[in-house]
Amino acid sequence: MIIRKLFKFENAHVVRGCSTFRCRSSIHGHSYKVELLFESNFLDNGQMVYDFGLMKQNMKAIVDSFDHAIALWDADDKEYIKDMQKHSLRWVLLPVSVCRTIFPHLFCDDRQTFATYKQRKWRERC
Ligand SMILES: [Zn+2]
Repeated sequence: MIIRKLFKFENAHVVRGCSTFRCRSSIHGHSYKVELLFESNFLDNGQMVYDFGLMKQNMKAIVDSFDHAIALWDADDKEYIKDMQKHSLRWVLLPVSVCRTIFPHLFCDDRQTFATYKQRKWRERC
């Protein structure tokens, strides 16, 4: 059995090192969809593949931190980072240059490391 949940968010970035001049030199945004699939051969005590309430609690907070925010690479130009943080209330500082293909890795492959990193940076900001 497979269950799925779709999350959507809007995010802006600059993709440093991208072969396309426009993408590596201009802030621009994208609409993203993150669809999580849970597969199990067994049902839990509530006769569910997975409790959506538990999943929504954790994933919604992570996805929401990116919504209507600018994603910044911590190795980018320090003055650029400082300016973006000064002029945008919502930003996320990441240890990687953000392109659309990196989000699945951020959300799934290394979610625990990323969440810890993000929370630390988020706290420093407040
Ligand atoms: Zn882009």
